[in-house]
Amino acid sequence: MNFSQLPLTPEMVKTLDSLGYKETTPIQEEALPFILEGKDVIAEAKTGSGKTAAFGIGLLSKLNVKKFRVQCLVLCPTRELADQVAKELRRIARFKHNIKILMLTGGESFGRQLGSLEHQAHIIVGTPGRVLKHLNKESLDLSNLETLVLDEADRMLDMGFIEEIQSLLAFAPKERQTLLFSATYDDEIKKISKEIQKDAVSIKTTHQE
Ligand code: ADP
Ligand code: MG
Repeated sequence: MNFSQLPLTPEMVKTLDSLGYKETTPIQEEALPFILEGKDVIAEAKTGSGKTAAFGIGLLSKLNVKKFRVQCLVLCPTRELADQVAKELRRIARFKHNIKILMLTGGESFGRQLGSLEHQAHIIVGTPGRVLKHLNKESLDLSNLETLVLDEADRMLDMGFIEEIQSLLAFAPKERQTLLFSATYDDEIKKISKEIQKDAVSIKTTHQE
């Protein structure tokens, strides 16, 4: 599928074209129509299938740049993965110069993060432990959150982040879009999906190639 067949702004299609993204990957083709409609989606797809752009195009399409509040939170299992996600989001947002994407991961100075948070951000990409710490210290406000993404959800569960994720969700509005991405789809993933999503559309592309 061509990106121009999706309900995207001409500017977004142009940006994707400039990145060399001519056609959707299978996960993007199947998930984006639902994501752009605002539905909760649980998507299983293997590594390298373009999951970041699948949720990135969705959250950037809906973002209100003029509203300088945290509207999206992307949770990742590690600092390295958060860094990759932030870089890909910045690429997709390259023509929207005023979008602020902030990383909040462990292994970095908490004090410096506090300073960055004072200047606000539209999108936070972080690891559950550090994001929760900021919420507990009231340095991060999620009351305007519109979209929550759990990237590599299976790995986050394997790493024992379930309690942090549950605690962190208490700070987020119940009315929100929640997207869950995983390389595997087992009972643990189904359970967390039931807990944190509403009428989630389930998409599986691992059978395709
Ligand atoms: P995943 O998270 O599924 O492992 P990524 O989101 O990291 O995969 O994407 C893998 C690579 O594919 C990245 O280098 C990304 O820039 C590229 N990519 C994503 N979508 C497309 C597309 N539609 N066309 C071409 N390349 C793409
Ligand atoms: Mg990924």
